[in-house]
Amino acid sequence: LFITFEGGDGSGKTTQAEILDTWLRERGETTLRSREPGGTEVGEQLREIVLHHRGEISPRAEALLYAADRAQHIDTRIRPALERGEIVLQDRYIDSSLAYQGAGRALGIDEVRSLSVWASSGLWPDLTILLDLDPDRARERLDQARTRFDRLEAEKNAFHARVRTVFLELAEAEPARFLVLDATLSIDELAAQIQARVTEALVG
Ligand code: C5P
Ligand code: MG
Repeated sequence: LFITFEGGDGSGKTTQAEILDTWLRERGETTLRSREPGGTEVGEQLREIVLHHRGEISPRAEALLYAADRAQHIDTRIRPALERGEIVLQDRYIDSSLAYQGAGRALGIDEVRSLSVWASSGLWPDLTILLDLDPDRARERLDQARTRFDRLEAEKNAFHARVRTVFLELAEAEPARFLVLDATLSIDELAAQIQARVTEALVG
């Protein structure tokens, strides 16, 4: 079972992935929790480049760096874990590329989808949890936490609005794969809804 968490910066993906991971382990499941960009040694180096490189990275170069990270991650960690029958919980995946590079950076969703499908050799998640949050609310949260605010500040409001819209459109196009949740709900309420959906996926 391959589960991904998607949503804008500050929507609570990491928190919910952690809670679900603990819950699954308590039930005796073997899990692998990972993230993109990152999740492998090469991937962490690529993460450093895409997130902290000082100069400008062209949008197509950025898309290719994410694709390289994904290929390494899927080939060396995710597919092997799925083949061992583990439950994989991943913070961000192809939908983030479609939203951030495809729409945010305006490269085109279909082109970024082709690149992503090639990079992952066509591996799609069984379930994608989309934590939907208004970018202004996200900004408030990140400001309070004092993390990544500068990065978020540097990107235009319109960019984050496009990212959010695309996430919602992707979810609408594939209702069976997506669980869309209002990220302003409490942490416990979100966790309960996610656990209910994952229980269905495990039984079904
Ligand atoms: O929240 P997380 O640690 O996943 O953040 C990683 C950063 O990388 C985010 O700020 C997000 O804007 C960016 N990102 C991106 N394109 C992707 C995945 C992440 O721009 N495909
Ligand atoms: Mg996070």
